Formats: sequence, C-alpha cells, structure tokens
Amino acid sequence: MTNTGLSKDTLTSYRDLARQDYQALVARGLSLDLTRGKPAPEQLDLSQELLSLPGDQHTAADGTDCRNYGGLQGLPELREIFAGPLQVPAGQLLAIGSSSLELMHDAVVQALLSVLPGAASRWVDEERIAFLCPVPGYDRHFAICERFGIEMIPVPMTAEGPDMDVVERLVADDPAVKGIWCVPKYSNPDGAVYSDEVVRRLAEMPTAAPDFRIFWDNAYAVHHLTEEVVEIADLLAACERSGRPDRAFVFGSTSKVTFAGAGVAFFGSSAANVKWLLANQAKRSIGPDKVNQLRHARFLQDEAGVLKHMERQRALLQPKFEAVERILHDGLAGTGLAAWTTPKGGYFVSLEVLDGCAKEIVRRAAEAGIALTPAGATHPLGDDPRDAVIRIAPSYPSLAELEQAVAGLVACVRLVGYEKLLAA
Ligand code: PLP
Repeated sequence: MTNTGLSKDTLTSYRDLARQDYQALVARGLSLDLTRGKPAPEQLDLSQELLSLPGDQHTAADGTDCRNYGGLQGLPELREIFAGPLQVPAGQLLAIGSSSLELMHDAVVQALLSVLPGAASRWVDEERIAFLCPVPGYDRHFAICERFGIEMIPVPMTAEGPDMDVVERLVADDPAVKGIWCVPKYSNPDGAVYSDEVVRRLAEMPTAAPDFRIFWDNAYAVHHLTEEVVEIADLLAACERSGRPDRAFVFGSTSKVTFAGAGVAFFGSSAANVKWLLANQAKRSIGPDKVNQLRHARFLQDEAGVLKHMERQRALLQPKFEAVERILHDGLAGTGLAAWTTPKGGYFVSLEVLDGCAKEIVRRAAEAGIALTPAGATHPLGDDPRDAVIRIAPSYPSLAELEQAVAGLVACVRLVGYEKLLAA
C-alpha cells in the first residue's frame, strides 16, 4: 500500500488511464488560454455606451469644463459614486488615471523618493526596505517590489486573510518592514475575504516602522459571483480609530467594471496622505482625464448603478466559475490529488496540487495547447517553495473553451499526480 491508502497496482492502473487521457488530449491539438484575468468581450460590451458618452455634454455638475486641464483630485461626482464601494469618504478619494496598478507603483516610487507623513526619512535613504507579501498573492505586486529592490517576506494566507500572528510579529520586530500588500475582498488568486478581526488587527498592530503602510488593493470590491454581497470592515476608519490614520493606502479601479485599461483608478487615504500624494502628483500631471471620468459618472450614475451593472457582469461570469467548480469536482474530488477554492467573487480560482507538481502540470498543459499562468507566479520572485499552486483565470475564454481547458487541466493534474505518487 502507498500512503494514499491505494495499492501500487491501483495507482498504476490510474496512472495508465491518465496517460491515455493525456495522449488523447494532446492529439486534439487545442489552443486555449487560461492565463490572465481579463474581462471577456461580452463583458466589455456591457459598457459599450461609454464610447458615445459624454457626447457634447462636457460640463460636470460643479461647472467644470471636462475638456480642459485641472481638477487634480478628479471629478467629485465620480468620487461620490465610488466612495461607498471603496469605503473612503469622497473628500479623501482621488480619481487619477486609468490603472490602480500604476497608482500602486507610483505610491511606492513616491515613498522611496519623498518623505511620507510620519516618516523619518525617504525609503530610498534607508539601508533596507521590506514588504510583507501574503501568499499566494498577485504577481504584479511582487514585480513592483522586485523592480525597486524591496525585499519580499512571504506570509501565509488563511481563508480570512494573512496569518496575523506572523504579520504582527514581523512588523513589531523589524523597522525595515514598511508595507504589506493586501487584496482584502475576493483576493487574487484564492478568493479569500478578510475577516473583521484581521482588518482590526491590521489597523491596531504596533509596528517598528513609524511609516508603515497597508497597500489595500480593493480591486474586487464590487465583483460578486453569487447573490451574496460580501462586505468587509472599513480599514481606513479602523486605522483612524486606532490612532494610526495614515496607515492605509486604498486602491481600486473600474478596470473590471467598465473597460480594462480605459477605466478610472482611485486612491484613498487619510487627509495627510492625500495631501502628500497630491503634492507629488502635481509634479507629474496638470489634471486627470476628466472626460473619461464624466462619461463614467454619466454611465454608472450612482452606487446603485454600479451594483446593477455588476449584476450584469455576474450573469456572464458566474456560469464560468460554476463550470470550473463542476469540472474540478467531477475530475478530482476524492482523489487526494488537488484542492481548490470556490470564490464568492473576484476573478480567480486557486488550485492546490501535490507538492512538487505545479510546474510539471503547467508544462504538460502547455504541451497539450493549454496556456496557464506560470506555476510560482503567485509567490515572490516566482518561487513557490512547495511548487503546489496553480492560478486559474476563467473570465476570458468562452464557456465552451473554458470547459475544454479545465477538463484538459484535470487530465494533467491526474497524470502528474499519479506519477508523483507512484514515484514516492
Ligand atoms: N490588483 C489586482 C489584485 C488585480 O488582480 C489586478 C488585475 O488583475 C489589478 C490590480 C490591476 O488593476 P488596474 O487595471 O486598475 O491596474
């Protein structure tokens, strides 16, 4: 008997069957892509009306001519709409540019080059800078750290957010730890939702660095996949209550609400941080694209309008996530070869396979014409020490393509998994 409880003969026959399935899969000559979490064309179609807005109505509610320079903070009427979803008072919320990732990148650069409120010096003048990186996490957060020589310290994720015992210990002991990346709702890639307790502890924990910042990337604030509208605790308010009002940097965007790359991005924080960011921002811009902001305000109308629009998005996405769940369940449940998340929102399913198998599964899938996000991408420097996490992005392919791709992935998981168990 092997440690799975299966005899070697049984495992061998499972492996042989998996080999046959895999050979049949390769023979189909597929060309499918499950890599990046992009909206599908039908999702983009939902916002098509944006392309004919604002027409010749280019004056904002406060009389601003949106065709001209100025208004560094962004249009008040759009900031009002997103204040609720992003849990930032409109007066402390900026609408800038079209990408929250750019804002996160720039916030890091500005913190390196200009003294943050509460900081003793610029980050670049310090000997060592480190960020806590809950894993699995978002590869582009890690890429920003890598780009600027910021050390990354992995922290395990739980279903309720990062392991706070580990976080509290690391921030308390080490003044070089200046930040943490958080995707608090429907996290990328594991769909985790931060519990109220985790939010409270993040806001209240003592940190050795006086200029510690939480990079609160609320990318999926309104991206529900079930009828349940999941809410999280308000980090900005919790930081203020705990006497650390400057701790939170909140980010968000409409990339996966309207158009990816042609939406609007937001930054929210304390009055002091907003002033700091605006002072830096004033050096790089004479004002944001208010025409785009105006058309978004006209299109979405109010917070209820955002939620209504996201219902239409859900109608397109939910069947895809249900298909992933069904195919993974039918092919892998009870095998002991994998576990996976069933997110209530967001854009990803995280598949955990046997240790040492993720890279090989991704390689075999590629051989069969199924492109997956590189194994390891969910960890700093692309290094998943257990080589066990694979991120599935179901949004972009059609339902039929997605079903084929996930079924193919299941065949690869079974093949590599049984080979691994037999070799053990
Ligand atoms: N943050 C997270 C967690 C994401 O998953 C993504 C895109 O996948 C982004 C940010 C990118 O946001 P934006 O398009 O606003 O730059």
